[in-house]
Amino acid sequence: MEKTQKSFNSTINKVSDKQGIEIQKRQELKAELIKEYGNHCMTCSNKYRDWRGLSLSHIIPLSRGGETSRGNCVIECYVCHTRFEKQPELRAK
Ligand SMILES: [Zn+2]
Repeated sequence: MEKTQKSFNSTINKVSDKQGIEIQKRQELKAELIKEYGNHCMTCSNKYRDWRGLSLSHIIPLSRGGETSRGNCVIECYVCHTRFEKQPELRAK
């Protein structure tokens, strides 16, 4: 755990504090959701060998007032993530 924390910090030093907090929040939420739901896409159910094939996606994008929280985030594969990132309105309401 301490090791992970260290690499977070070296990454966030390069960006602004606000961005750094956001990045850290996403990393933590992603780890939390994967631990809870396993290594699979919560949209298409594809299973992955580990978390590297998966991304944290926002249901309501940050640009539309969504936030990085459990209620607004899902774990998705790269394909689903990219699809909804471009057209967030495709998500079931
Ligand atoms: Zn998927």
